Amino acid sequence: MLYREVPKNGDKLSILGFGAMRLPKKDGAIDQEKATALLRHAIDNGINYIDTAWTYQKEQSESFLGSALADGYREKVRIATKMPHWLIRDRQDMDKILQFQLNKLHTDYIDYYLIHSLTKGGWEKMKENGVLEFLDRAKNDGRIRNTGFSFHDNLELFKEIIDSYDWDICLIQYNYLDKHNQAGTEGLRYAAEKGIAVMVMEPLRGGNLARNITPEISDIWSEADVKRTPAEWALRWVWNHPEVTVVLSGMNDISQVDENIRTASEAYPNSLNQKELDTVARVAEKYSDLMTIPCTGCNYCMPCPAGVDIPGCFEMYNSREIFKGTGSDDTQYRYLLYQMGILGNRSSASLCINCGKCKEQCPQHIDIPGKMKEVEAQFEKPVIKLKATAMRHILPFFRQFSLFKNRQRNKN
Ligand code: SF4
Ligand code: SF4
Repeated sequence: MLYREVPKNGDKLSILGFGAMRLPKKDGAIDQEKATALLRHAIDNGINYIDTAWTYQKEQSESFLGSALADGYREKVRIATKMPHWLIRDRQDMDKILQFQLNKLHTDYIDYYLIHSLTKGGWEKMKENGVLEFLDRAKNDGRIRNTGFSFHDNLELFKEIIDSYDWDICLIQYNYLDKHNQAGTEGLRYAAEKGIAVMVMEPLRGGNLARNITPEISDIWSEADVKRTPAEWALRWVWNHPEVTVVLSGMNDISQVDENIRTASEAYPNSLNQKELDTVARVAEKYSDLMTIPCTGCNYCMPCPAGVDIPGCFEMYNSREIFKGTGSDDTQYRYLLYQMGILGNRSSASLCINCGKCKEQCPQHIDIPGKMKEVEAQFEKPVIKLKATAMRHILPFFRQFSLFKNRQRNKN
């Protein structure tokens, strides 16, 4: 295993992090025995960064880790978990939720505490509710040791958040297809230049870069001098960036853990040669050929006066085009969460008022308002709109239920 240092605290973290989001299951719940063996195998073989969150595995992931990290395993790892900002109503909720998480994890401190899945709306709400003061206080009294945030919005907001606080880490979606989406390469470098460790999620784009590979893409990989699986290529590409500290992988069997550890043991920064980088670029280009909207994510069209996240909408639409029919296309779900206002402000295509302001700015000469109609037709069918409205109404009850369950668990 290779390790990279967190600039602000000198922590040496395994470049492969264990994502406790897709654990082995039995009868619809976490298979405690199998998942514990898997986690301990990963730790015994050098992984020392474990990433979880309140919501993972139907809110069972943190409790699972609390038990699985007994017998001295807690001391061998750094735990990262996240505050679900959509459940927060006020400043007191932050302390309550953190305390529940400490209890579930059977620990007195969280090594890396992140605000989960920030978007514009979530960030504004959390700031108004005093999250920065909360983070200062929790760090000072030792409940958390380092602070961070995970992110799903545009580059402009990413830079704003980076500049708003003395963060230790951030967690971004990054892979060879997302160089210009969300934080992208520019965001990665921006954070790293400020001494913030960058953790990477979705290195395989939800597994899509490893599964259901088309014959054209297989041909490109097979022409390379070095033989690697598509997953290995994708991981090596991310680790090739010296600015990346840890790459998260949700592994659910031992052979996957072993394969990823083997890949990680060779993944030094800047270790891919030009020919290898060209091979990855050719594959990325082949995927881009399948995209029907030639958006590069440059952001010149932003901000939209009506609040549409133009590159975000196009990224979803293009992903849909590339991965539809693969069985792992999650674009409708992500669109619902991020564009239709479940986890923040609405920024969906149907907000477009056809003002035309963005069209003049687009170097790709995309008919943006025209394409917004197509995005809307794809992702905002009446039944989805209904679902979004229902989810927005249900969220306060869901919040109560989630806190109630945790209170009950504490009493028992
Ligand atoms: S045309 Fe639509 S997407 Fe473009 S700036 Fe105007 S409202 Fe926004
Ligand atoms: S300006 Fe054009 S290419 Fe750039 S993000 Fe907007 S739509 Fe995409």
